[in-house]
Amino acid sequence: MSKRISAVRERLIQEDIDAILITNPYNLRYVAHFTGTAGVAVITHDEAWFITDSRYTEQATHQAKEFEVITHQAGWIHELAPRLLKAGVRDLAFESEHVTYGMFDQLNEILSVSLVSTTNWIADIRQVKEPEELAIIQKACSIADEAFSFILDYIKPGQTEIEVANALDFKMRELGATEVSFDTIVASGVRGAMPHGVASDKVIEAGDMVTIDFGCYYKGYVSDMTRTFSIGTANEDLQKVHAAVLEAAQAGREAVKPGMTGIEVDRVVRDYLNEKGYGEYFTHSTGHGIGLEIHEGPAISSRSTVRLEPGHVITIEPGVYIPGLGGVRIEDDLLVTEDGAKVLTHSDRHLIEVTPR
Ligand code: ZN
Ligand code: ZN
Repeated sequence: MSKRISAVRERLIQEDIDAILITNPYNLRYVAHFTGTAGVAVITHDEAWFITDSRYTEQATHQAKEFEVITHQAGWIHELAPRLLKAGVRDLAFESEHVTYGMFDQLNEILSVSLVSTTNWIADIRQVKEPEELAIIQKACSIADEAFSFILDYIKPGQTEIEVANALDFKMRELGATEVSFDTIVASGVRGAMPHGVASDKVIEAGDMVTIDFGCYYKGYVSDMTRTFSIGTANEDLQKVHAAVLEAAQAGREAVKPGMTGIEVDRVVRDYLNEKGYGEYFTHSTGHGIGLEIHEGPAISSRSTVRLEPGHVITIEPGVYIPGLGGVRIEDDLLVTEDGAKVLTHSDRHLIEVTPR
């Protein structure tokens, strides 16, 4: 039996619940290796069912090897009902963050079980990555690094942010990515003051500071990296901001070790920027977990009490955004190890001045 299914069963025992219904596609991919778009899984103490429609029977049989694959005709809930009865399931956990009100009504009407609302059971298990997952994430990070070095050669004044984002996205696909992990952010000049300035039709000019936040999906896992550089020489105030963010990011990366809470890591970075007088402009949290999703646990924020463990993969991404002036963010992906952290993204973090051509 896979470690993933056993981990789910351990949780069933801990919570004294008979079975869990898994409907979140990321969690289905995690427990059943299923990459299709229609299917649900149910794990009981001694059975594992994967219910899908005829379009996916073949695929599920190949992917969800540890599940009994069941093809439904008239809706999966009707297929599930008699099986739960036969297996003696009395209480069924469901994923509250994914089950809609409409689905809940149907479950309630058709199944003769008591429904138990749960959050993040599988997301919690997903936080600690297995070696195979780490190898894939490392590759997703390498693709981001390589695409970034391509873009430093490519970018020049007169291009729009969208042109640059498209070139970057295409490069990542050329390097093996299947898609971008989120809409690529290219924020130049004063637009840099928007932490999530998705690429626009603004023309990039000499003297602009440019923040690019991007990443890709590779074999289902993401990378997420940000660099800020200038086209020619940027204004002196922004150069100072860059120096402060660079050091705050370094302090954060060096602080990360198992046992620390998200709050403690966040504080290291925030304290540094406060000291430099930029605290009020650091308006988001320090980082987040990555994996099958671009934002998953553990959070690295002023409210995150979760303790880091070896196998967690997180970002450290301080940023300073000054309205009317611009902004700087530097973001890297890190694997928490037994005694610290290994940085997975390696692109140069110093203030690169791209020569305008
Ligand atoms: Zn990012
Ligand atoms: Zn991020």
